[in-house]
Parts: sequence; C-alpha cells; structure tokens
Amino acid sequence: MSTSIERMYGTLGIDPKVLAFGREIEASLKERFEKIDNTAEYNQLKVLHAMQKNKVSEACLYPSSGYGYNDVGRDTLEAVYATAFRTESALVRPLIACGTHALAIAMAGNVRPGDEILSPVGKPYDTLEEVIGIRPSKGSLAEYGVTYRQVELLPDGSFDYEGIRAAINERTRLVEIQRSKGYLTRPTFSVAQIGELIAFIKSIKPDVICMVDNCYGEFVEEQEPSEVGADLIVGSLIKNPGGGLAPIGGYIAGKEEYVDNAAYRLTCPGLGKEVGASLGVSLPFFQGFFLAPTVTAGALKGAIFAANIYEKLGFAVTPDSTQERHDIIQAVQFGTPEGVIAFCQGIQAAAPVDSYVAPEPWAMPGYDSDVIMAAGAFVQGSSIELSADGPIKPPYTVYFQGGLTWEHARFGILMSLQKLCEAGIVKL
Ligand SMILES: *Cc1c(COP(=O)(O)O)cnc(C)c1O
Repeated sequence: MSTSIERMYGTLGIDPKVLAFGREIEASLKERFEKIDNTAEYNQLKVLHAMQKNKVSEACLYPSSGYGYNDVGRDTLEAVYATAFRTESALVRPLIACGTHALAIAMAGNVRPGDEILSPVGKPYDTLEEVIGIRPSKGSLAEYGVTYRQVELLPDGSFDYEGIRAAINERTRLVEIQRSKGYLTRPTFSVAQIGELIAFIKSIKPDVICMVDNCYGEFVEEQEPSEVGADLIVGSLIKNPGGGLAPIGGYIAGKEEYVDNAAYRLTCPGLGKEVGASLGVSLPFFQGFFLAPTVTAGALKGAIFAANIYEKLGFAVTPDSTQERHDIIQAVQFGTPEGVIAFCQGIQAAAPVDSYVAPEPWAMPGYDSDVIMAAGAFVQGSSIELSADGPIKPPYTVYFQGGLTWEHARFGILMSLQKLCEAGIVKL
C-alpha cells in the first residue's frame, strides 16, 4: 500500500525505486539537518531582532517614487541589514542590478588612481575580471589607473601567508576576498578562516580595506564576515539574503565611510545614499530578508542531500558528503556531457515555472564552451531558487544550488536522479 505522498511523487514522474533510494539517504542525514535548523533558528532571531530594533513599521512597506528623499522604507531596510550584519551602515537597493554591480561599485568607490587591489585567494569571480581589468574591458578599473595583484592559494587550498605578505605594498588599498568557491574547485572559506586572513592582512597594513564577496554565504553560518573584521561585505539579493522574494538588487554593508563611497558611485558624488526611490520593492526586500535564514537552510539541506546521493552512486562531489558547509553550492562531477545534461533536465523538469521545456547546451557569451542551464525560477536568473548549470567540457561538472523550500530541493534532486536513470547513466 503506497501512501498519499508516494502516490504524488508517482504522479510527478518519480519511480518508487528513486524515491526509496532518496529516503534511505535522507534518513542518514538527520543530525546534520538538525544543525542546519539550529543555525536557521539563530539567524531567524537575528533578523527579527534587527527588524524590531529598527522599528520596521507598516509605512516602511509602501512604494516611493521620484528622487526618493526620505524614503523611510529604504532607509529602515538599510538599518536592518546593518544591524543584522553588525555593521555601521548598509546600502540595499533595487538600483544595484546584480552581485557583480554591487562588487563593482564597492571597489570603484573605494579606490583611486594609483591604488592597487589584491586578491589573496586566487582568481576572483569571472565577471570581476572585466570589472578590475584582468581581462581588458571598457571602463575597467585598470583603465582608471588601478592595478591588481593576486596571490594563489597553496595546493592544499590554504592561504599563502608569505606570498600575501610579499604582495602587500604601499599602494595596496583594497583586498578582495571571495568567500564562496563559486565555479572553481577550491574550497569555500569559513567565516573563521576569513577572520584569520583579515587579521593577518591588517597586522601588516591596518588601513587596507578588506572587502568580502559574500555571495551564496549569507546565513549559512551564525556569523557573517563583517563580524570577524571585514570592512565591507557584498552580495546579491537574488541569492540568499533576498529570500527568493527580492525581484532584483544587491547590498553592500560595512564601515560607513566605505559604504558611502560605494553609494557615490551607485548614484553620484554629492548625492550618494540620499537619492534612489525604492519604488515598490521595500515589501519584498523586507519579507525576503525575513525569510532568508529558513530559505538558506532549505537550500543547504538540498546541497547536502545531493552530495550524499551522488557520492553514493560513485560520482565525485564537492564539497563531499560529510564536509561542513560555508555556502550553498554543490558540484557534482559526471564525467560525461550526457550526465550533465540529464541532471540539468531533471532540475528543469522539477521547476514550478517552465517545467515543460528541456534545456539544451548553448554558446553563452563570455564562456569558452557550451553551457547548459536549468532554471525554472519565478525571478529570472535567481540562484536561491532551484537551479543548476554546467559547462560542456571536461570534467563535466554540474553546479547545483538553491531551492526555496527543502521540500522542493529534495524533489528537484530526486527528479535529476530520475532523469539520470531514464538516460541509462545511473542504475539503482
Ligand atoms: C553570483 C556571484 C557573484 C555576482 O554575480 P551576479 O550574477 O552578477 O549576481 C559574484 N561572486 C560570486 C562568488 C557569486 O557567486
């Protein structure tokens, strides 16, 4: 006799064997999921406290227009972010188009010609290469006379402290530390590790600005990098802190002077944070931030579930099935294009939007191979929603993240497994 849940999985196209395999894995993850729930509980209280302390009121949820002078929703929201992330100030705006834009204005606002930017953790996120000018690009910081240096991680993924010491010089003004591995194979750093790195850098040059690219890391731990010495933390609202509800946006939180400098770049010198109407987004920004701790927890459970499923089936997974998590990204190495494609088609088939289309690899601008992307999201490109992508090149790795609820993340992973079974790539 099957239960109503089993029958519903059947209706949605999941074989009993796939479900049984998933159930067995899930049963082994109870303790880890409890830890995630504890983190979410703490972070939920942290966000609620920030909202109460800053007296979020009904008036904060109304739209504004025009210049946005005295936009109480916008200003209160920024105070809420600052309280939650324990910073002096924050800039949280729909005018920030994406994470890259937030990072770009945080950097551009805080360096001047002749300054140098240092990445002590190897190559930064792809899109920052053109912002900094590592790859020549119109309007890059390099065109404004800002130079760049990077220190690679040691082969074991740890910081090259001696290399970093040697790279810091009288022109070093801003240090860019990417928390998440993004689409690289290096490990994601814990908040504690980032704290150690910042302490080391500040011991050599106390006035250098330490900026953390916090994308995909928010609410994964109880602390954020701003609590261990980061002068600025930066991220996207269509990832963790938007809670799936923010339709656009980015944030920069940190020391008031540095946040103001970024705001002078976002709008213009003299105006800074004073202008920029929030239009109608204050409500989803507040509500999304309120939900973000539990949404992030669901995505984390999905990532761990996927790691355990695919590791058990013999695929290489990063992080592995037992590793502690510092971001929500899960990589699975399939070793064949067919594996990557079947996985992504499963994620797409599990979506609430556009589930009936089958994604195909295509030549995306900016990539050196075809890329396949699965995203049936309410918000275009939102990667806190269930999503996956993979370049069609060796070692044929797919990157998976998100899920607004654990129930949906679980279903998406089961559907990916279903598609891999149907394609004959996996046999249960
Ligand atoms: C997503 C992301 C960014 C910014 O990307 P956008 O697509 O511009 O929002 C930057 N760094 C990391 C590590 C990211 O994951």
